[in-house]
Amino acid sequence: MTINSPSSSRPPLPRSSRPRFIARFGAGLSEGSAAEAPSLGGKGAQLCELARLGLPTKPGFVISLEAGRAAKGEIGPALEAGIEAALGWLEEATGLSFSDATRPLLVSVRSSPPISMPGMMDTLLNVGLTREATAGLAMRAGGNLAFALDCRRRLLPALAEIAFDIEPDLFEEALDELKEERDLREDSELSAGDWAEALERFERILEEEEAANLPDSPREQLALAIKSVWASAEGARARAWRSLHKLPQDMGAAVVVQAMAFGNLGPDSATGVVFTRDPSTGAPGLFGEYLPQAQGEEVVSGLRTPRPLSKSAREALGGRAPSLEEVAPGAYADLAAACRKLEAERLDVQDVEFTVESGELFLLQTRPAQRTPRAALRIAADLASEGLISRDEALLRVAPALLERLLHPGVDPSARRETAARGLAASPGAAVGEAVFTAAEAEALARSGRPSILIRAETSPEDIRGIYAADGVLTARGGMTSHAAVIARGLGKPCVCGAGEMRIFENEGLARLPGGRIIRRGDPLTLDGTAGEALFGAMPLIPPPQEEAFERIMGWADARRRLGVRANVDAPAEAEQALKFGAEGIGLCRSEQALFSTGRLTPLRETILASDPHERRAALEKLGAAQRADLEALFRPMAGLPVALRLMDPPLHEFLPKTPEEMAETAASLGVSAEAVAARAADLAEFNPMLGRRGCRIGVLYPEIYEAQARAAFEAALDLGPLAPKPLEIILPFLATRSEMSLLRRQIEETARRVLDEWGAPPEALDWRLGAMIETPRAALRAEDLAEDCDFFTFGTNDLTQMTFGLSRDDAGRFMRDYIAAGALSADPFHVFDEVGVGELMRLAVARGRARKPGILLGVCGEHGADPEAVSHFHEMGVDYVSCSPYRAPVARLAAAQAAIRSDRAADRAKEAPPES
Ligand code: PEP
Ligand code: MG
Repeated sequence: MTINSPSSSRPPLPRSSRPRFIARFGAGLSEGSAAEAPSLGGKGAQLCELARLGLPTKPGFVISLEAGRAAKGEIGPALEAGIEAALGWLEEATGLSFSDATRPLLVSVRSSPPISMPGMMDTLLNVGLTREATAGLAMRAGGNLAFALDCRRRLLPALAEIAFDIEPDLFEEALDELKEERDLREDSELSAGDWAEALERFERILEEEEAANLPDSPREQLALAIKSVWASAEGARARAWRSLHKLPQDMGAAVVVQAMAFGNLGPDSATGVVFTRDPSTGAPGLFGEYLPQAQGEEVVSGLRTPRPLSKSAREALGGRAPSLEEVAPGAYADLAAACRKLEAERLDVQDVEFTVESGELFLLQTRPAQRTPRAALRIAADLASEGLISRDEALLRVAPALLERLLHPGVDPSARRETAARGLAASPGAAVGEAVFTAAEAEALARSGRPSILIRAETSPEDIRGIYAADGVLTARGGMTSHAAVIARGLGKPCVCGAGEMRIFENEGLARLPGGRIIRRGDPLTLDGTAGEALFGAMPLIPPPQEEAFERIMGWADARRRLGVRANVDAPAEAEQALKFGAEGIGLCRSEQALFSTGRLTPLRETILASDPHERRAALEKLGAAQRADLEALFRPMAGLPVALRLMDPPLHEFLPKTPEEMAETAASLGVSAEAVAARAADLAEFNPMLGRRGCRIGVLYPEIYEAQARAAFEAALDLGPLAPKPLEIILPFLATRSEMSLLRRQIEETARRVLDEWGAPPEALDWRLGAMIETPRAALRAEDLAEDCDFFTFGTNDLTQMTFGLSRDDAGRFMRDYIAAGALSADPFHVFDEVGVGELMRLAVARGRARKPGILLGVCGEHGADPEAVSHFHEMGVDYVSCSPYRAPVARLAAAQAAIRSDRAADRAKEAPPES
């Protein structure tokens, strides 16, 4: 349907429909605010906010989400009346008209979903530009016919696509052909005559495609544009984006209708994007790009490579094309002032789209900027240091999981690099993977767990899945604000854009480089997003340098958190790393892993395969000395900090010799035949080793093993004297009963006594504690019993999950994807902590353990120890510390601070809430 009523007979805006159906903004009016995104969509609400703040923007109006939902794709009489009224106001505000072709009102029609979905929906510019109005527009622009024709040639393909599904490429190709015939490179070089010729060719295409009757009245065009935005909110691209971002499919979109700002009006007109701080590094200062003589999406589409905004950025890049600051200094100064105001009001870094029309600035859109993890950290820290936000707010703004990306490697600077392609350093970090040329190839590799580098001429919104699946993105065209760059930055993946010397042949799966070299599909490639380079081969990667802002945020997090953070460490180098990442001790050293890591496998096998306790003791003597030296090396960096050493846990069969060479080697060192070794190994075989002779059962069945391990730990501690752990904690794994606990406690206490006697040392020379690993449901249920005999609990959430679900942690991976797809589980419980099941057991254990021993120390050392959500559950349970891999310690520290802030805020809210009557 069309909007028929002429503007002169417009009805007044019905009060009840404001702002529910239509909200106007600009020309000194604002009927909405940033808080109304749920109704006006992000863009609409922000435009109202811009107007509210008195920032320069063209007037317009928003058709709300509610209006769109009620309309169901068609503009009914009530909405039509509302639109007419708003149009009338717009005509008055601009002095232009939808009915009078001599002073035509042109509008942009854009989508405004409640949550930003960049590039996923239709946008129409120059709506209202009929054949007749084109001459009027030229007159309005001081006789600039080229400009008016340029506007019309932009509108026609867009209308043709939405009205008749005609591929815009047909028009693009016709224009390229014309430019080639006339030896022109840039659109801005086309004269009025060239544009008139281009438009004639466009009209011919429309005739050939039987689409000559495109709507040629402003109201018809507007109705079509509005409906096309609604329809594109239901399109495949938008659906895919929503499902990737776990957004509701019925989210819908408001529609923004706004008077056009013309960035293509002449040499002092331009369109651009500015970030109020650098979205890659977070450094303060404007960061952005612009294109002279351009409209709308051109900057973000990546089809033309844009120019820097400021003179200093141009000089730093060594570019010759003038910056916006040089072309339109007044508009640049206004832009800088608007950015300052926006940041101070919105309290966050903004990503602002703007147009300069004949030297005058207009803002088209503002939204919180996508940023790299590195920038997110710096920006949050700086905003707090500048006093714009509180430290708590800064801590809440950094997603803990992103820190891990920050700590991810870069290319080793000492390695020899062979550059394949150079472009813009669009998103920092480094990745190694196989070259792929389509999103589908990247997805296929990701499914089989292989890393990939996605190479594209330019990225379109359709490539989004590929960017998600790939480990890095390389494009031949496009700038720092192209879709590829924005999305990769948000994901913390390296991206190099605008590597213009590379030519890409997607169908053949290859890229030609200058000098004749070729990258083929499947070739190993390294992407250095920090340097803006793709490198041949798989380069060695190294950890990144420490950021000052990282230390600032971590310092605040440490001051705020109440949960302790330790690390799971098996080797001295890991201990050093853990300290660097702020761990406050070792929460779990898996003693058998420590032995593995120092190559003590043969004496360990001798111990296990010994035929009697006597033979085992002899083997253990060798092993004990070795383990004592290893433990000393591990304890030394942790001087004065708690270190928890778990006595041997895994099923014995894991240590048995398997290959003939291993059999022969063990036989030789034991002084027996290979057959004898094989026979003993067969003796130890179990049907279900994970539930067999493992954990504390080893200590019960082979007491000499635990005794030797405890002795090694005590002797290492005595040897280190003041540098010993404080305290040394010994963990007994896989307990289920109090009898196991008391039996082993007696043994280990006896060992401690003997060692102290032998050393002639007083009892206080050894600061040690004994604890239980809670990893069987029975241990959790009977925590009261266990607490009686131990000083601490540490929750082994890996095994506790395995035992609670009855799900093998070693086998579940093979079917987990299918299981989740079938809806039998919502997530893999070995990755996502099962708060309601495993969590319930833990809460029971905490309550029962503390009931018997109020001060008992409680830790968590399973893989969930750094999962931010799990950390917040552990905080609520009242656990004392979490322990995780060294690299993840910062994640846990920040997650713990966030948990403390959130629970304090909840407590404050509860205090403020009126008491229930
Ligand atoms: C656990 O079970 O959670 C644990 C930390 O021990 P492991 O992973 O060694 O079984
Ligand atoms: Mg375990």
